[in-house]
Amino acid sequence: MKIISSAEEMRAFSKECRRENKTVALVPTMGALHAGHLSLIDIARKSADIVVVSVFVNPTQFGPNEDFANYPRKPEEDFEACRSRGVDAVFAPPASEIYRPDASTYISEEQISQNLCGKSRPKHFRGVTTVVGILFNIVRPDKAVFGLKDAQQVAVIRRMVRDLFFDVEIVEAPIIREDSGLALSSRNAYLDPGEREGARRIYESLLKGKALADDGCTNVDRIKALVINSVSSAKIRVIYVEVVDRLTSLPVQVAERGKSRISIAVWYGRVRLIDNIEI
Ligand code: AMP
Repeated sequence: MKIISSAEEMRAFSKECRRENKTVALVPTMGALHAGHLSLIDIARKSADIVVVSVFVNPTQFGPNEDFANYPRKPEEDFEACRSRGVDAVFAPPASEIYRPDASTYISEEQISQNLCGKSRPKHFRGVTTVVGILFNIVRPDKAVFGLKDAQQVAVIRRMVRDLFFDVEIVEAPIIREDSGLALSSRNAYLDPGEREGARRIYESLLKGKALADDGCTNVDRIKALVINSVSSAKIRVIYVEVVDRLTSLPVQVAERGKSRISIAVWYGRVRLIDNIEI
């Protein structure tokens, strides 16, 4: 497995793959890899000849008071996990390889990004689309795999790819959860064991919302109220609960089974956690 830190070398590696008529799948990550990331790698492995995993804690998608400095970084463990999963190349650049000091160009999706996480993290998606666009231009993958844990992110990336004619197929991966139902996330590392146990309420509340929809309820406000009431506690504060279109993550007026998703973000103490479920 190659470990590549320069954009130029990454480009050359990809170019060589294409010259050999090999297809390339990219799995973009911020590292601190867990079973959720590994499931994306497995999907990439099945869908292309060459798998590239990027490990880059992207500064432009963090707000000024967010956890960029403290975000877990475990490069050696990540490389080992990738090696054991049959990854061909890890692209782990320093920020200076991705952003020039006077970089002044961004990619900005301006509809889907305005909702849900975009409201509480104003420049987050601009950072995501910009870095994903940059990674696509460096790696030039045939496919790129993203997890539905971040369903709004998938919708934003799909929109970007469509609107800007990026020549890449977006592949979605299902959410991987702990036995308790808590969605795996690098940020779960911030939770102590007791908090991890308490955080199961998030998925449990989504299941209650889904059960209400399964019983025939199409009323968005009722579903939202049930989820908010079930999840809220002394430690858990809701940032948003929304019923959205399954594909675009845009809010809907009527919850429709097979077409909608319940998305949630909470503060668990000082840890921001998100999750969602299709109904
Ligand atoms: P991150 O490192 O948090 O930026 O995540 C990198 C990719 O892994 C994104 O496409 C995420 O949606 C995906 N991912 C993170 N956690 C999970 C999970 N529990 N299940 C499935 N995919 C996930």
